Amino acid sequence: MNRDYVVGLDMGGTNLRSAAVSPTGRLLLRRTGPSKATDTAEAIVENIAARILELEATAHRRGLGRPLAIGVAVPGPLNVHTGVVYAAPHVKAWRGYPLRDILERRLSRTVVVENDANAWALGELHHGAARGRKNVLLLTLGTGVGGGVVVDGRIVHGTVGMAGELGHVAVELDGKRCDCGASGCLEAYASTSGMQRMLAERLKLQPGAELPPVYLDRGGQFSARAMSAQARHGDPMAVAVFASAGRYLGVAIASFLNIFNPELVVIGGGVATALGLMRRAMMREIKSRALTAALKPVPIVRAALGPNGGVIGAALAAMNGDSPCRNQQNFRH
Ligand SMILES: [Zn+2]
Repeated sequence: MNRDYVVGLDMGGTNLRSAAVSPTGRLLLRRTGPSKATDTAEAIVENIAARILELEATAHRRGLGRPLAIGVAVPGPLNVHTGVVYAAPHVKAWRGYPLRDILERRLSRTVVVENDANAWALGELHHGAARGRKNVLLLTLGTGVGGGVVVDGRIVHGTVGMAGELGHVAVELDGKRCDCGASGCLEAYASTSGMQRMLAERLKLQPGAELPPVYLDRGGQFSARAMSAQARHGDPMAVAVFASAGRYLGVAIASFLNIFNPELVVIGGGVATALGLMRRAMMREIKSRALTAALKPVPIVRAALGPNGGVIGAALAAMNGDSPCRNQQNFRH
């Protein structure tokens, strides 16, 4: 039996997930380790290379076949054509960093890099909530807001590979400052950090003051999950923050529907668990703004792959040609 596989990596701010994925997108072997994202650029790459070699050694011991390709999902905008990471908010050392070339030199093999939300969108398209679809949008609502746009079955990359940054559409003209430097972006409202800020404002907390413990997880961090538990118990502040975030989300999604006319919208990330609490306000905006809403409502569903979306998607990006220019080379060795 042919047990060749593709290496998929998902570089996060905390964890580096690695996996051996079958050419059809099935997880065969999975590992998680520290991403060492605050190290120097070289040390981070060395860590990634070490994890890849380690995974391949384990795969060999387990009787898997050859590694066919290597795909790496990166948290931040990058040029998929050149493999240069422009800026990654959680990997400060990577600014205009030629990640792909450096990793290829280190491993003496072809590597494909892809934005993590784009990779996740690919994963959902082939093996998740968007299976069998052709025109799909993925929004990841976490610390930030990421996006992936699939048109006619392919990820839209744009001229320099930066299309699909759905978190940075403006939903408020003179709105809150976003991490990207602009103001009023969707990310400033529909991310966990945006919600935390909105909650603190509603509670009239002084800047820097701690939130009440009911909104925090066990580690003392604000969490969408803790706030949704509060909302489900009828906490009016939590209910209002979700309604507000849902409204901004609806405004943004309505625009996306008008631009792309997708058949499905997939929502992933930690905040997606609270989709039910945002849905009413979100749908109200979509119905009043999306031209297609009256014709045929577009299903808005939760992502199916969860934390494995990135590694599966990275492997698929390396395999199936969705990161342009380079993929055919992956099959030559
Ligand atoms: Zn922004």
